[in-house]
Amino acid sequence: MVKAIVGANWGDEGKGKITDMLASQSDVVIRFQGGANAGHTIINDYGRFALHTLPSGVFYPHVTNVIGNGVALDIAKLAHELEEVTSQGVPAPKVLVSDRAQLLMPYHILQDTYEEARLGGKAFGSTKSGIAPFYSDKYAKTGIQVCDLFDEAILRERLTAAVELKNVLFQHLYHQPPVSADEIMDQLLVLREKLRPYVGDTVTFIHQALKEGKTILLEGQLGSMKDPDLGIFPMTTSSHTVAGYGCVGACVPPTAVKDVICVTKAYSSCVGSQTEPFVSEVTGEAGNELRRRGGDHGEFGATTGRPRRVGWFDTVATRYGCMVQGATQAALTCLDVLGYLDEIPVCTGYEIDGTVTSSFPTTPALLRAKPVFETLPGWKQDIRGCTDYRALPANARAYVDFLEQRIETPITMVSTGPKREEMAFRTPKL
Ligand code: GDP
Repeated sequence: MVKAIVGANWGDEGKGKITDMLASQSDVVIRFQGGANAGHTIINDYGRFALHTLPSGVFYPHVTNVIGNGVALDIAKLAHELEEVTSQGVPAPKVLVSDRAQLLMPYHILQDTYEEARLGGKAFGSTKSGIAPFYSDKYAKTGIQVCDLFDEAILRERLTAAVELKNVLFQHLYHQPPVSADEIMDQLLVLREKLRPYVGDTVTFIHQALKEGKTILLEGQLGSMKDPDLGIFPMTTSSHTVAGYGCVGACVPPTAVKDVICVTKAYSSCVGSQTEPFVSEVTGEAGNELRRRGGDHGEFGATTGRPRRVGWFDTVATRYGCMVQGATQAALTCLDVLGYLDEIPVCTGYEIDGTVTSSFPTTPALLRAKPVFETLPGWKQDIRGCTDYRALPANARAYVDFLEQRIETPITMVSTGPKREEMAFRTPKL
């Protein structure tokens, strides 16, 4: 059976920790979308890791870690990450890369960088990892699949065609030097050898694993708000972040997905540009304090180091985020972070043009939305590391009950610290 672990919000909800925890009981962990543009932070007995491309099962020798066909594969980054993990004492993980995944090329990164520069103040706040040009090329059918690497004639032909188009853009739109297909070809042939031991038919592998009754985890990157169809378009990413896309990006049958665990944080955070709508944002000193206390070392991007914008919990966005994921349960992370507050505001409605709604709107209305807050009492206690839900302060439990009611999704796990074992399991009230 298949379980999916996905984000209800803007990403950085703490999915890495939940996946790392659940991976211990799984046979296969699959990345099905996105690329190295975001990162999961995992803290375990081997140390602290920021994984960007590798699935979070790499710390368990019994897990096969699959990079699915839906992923934007930057081979150099994958090779680097593998080296980083093993150099910190982790045994060489079992990794299988889909022969249908497509390659994120150096010219995608260049295009992303040039385009952000061209947009100037109107830029999307891209991580400049080449994700948008990569997915554009995939759907324009000018992308290159991993399998093409092993047929040099096809590879050269497809690369030459792609580079021809890129160079028109680079020279005439961005006024930048052209790239050389020959040079990229040479680089690819070197990288190919690093990738070769891991490449396989993941579609057949996954279906065989399902036949054998194995447990498969789909590991989502980012969250519902960043989905290009269902999120805050165009301030989204370029691949689908919803669990449903696992059926394409990992080729798991829709009927096999039995459990969708939506991860959400006890407050909000969002990376991206300042122009991105983020209704429950807290700014000023209160925001700085929340950012400083957030996560395991403050709310700063795992990939970019950028300070994340922070806000109070947003039940409007999160209820919608869980709904579009098809959440069967929710994991609430970082509850420990809020222990310093006398009272805790929760955004429970959006006021748009004078009317208060709890339905998540499309982007033009979202840009006009103002938060409506309700305030709950804080618990003023350090709960870091608490593993017994009943031992949490009454106000902390009341906060969780309140959020569960509003997001209409059973909260089964409450995370009280960044470490794997810092987790309190809860019997939902829904
Ligand atoms: P992901 O992309 O969804 O995996 O999220 P990130 O790993 O980027 O961000 C989550 C951050 O919160 C990381 O620094 C985690 O170590 C940290 N974290 C996860 N769960 C908890 C928790 O319950 N409490 C605290 N204090 N930090 C947590």
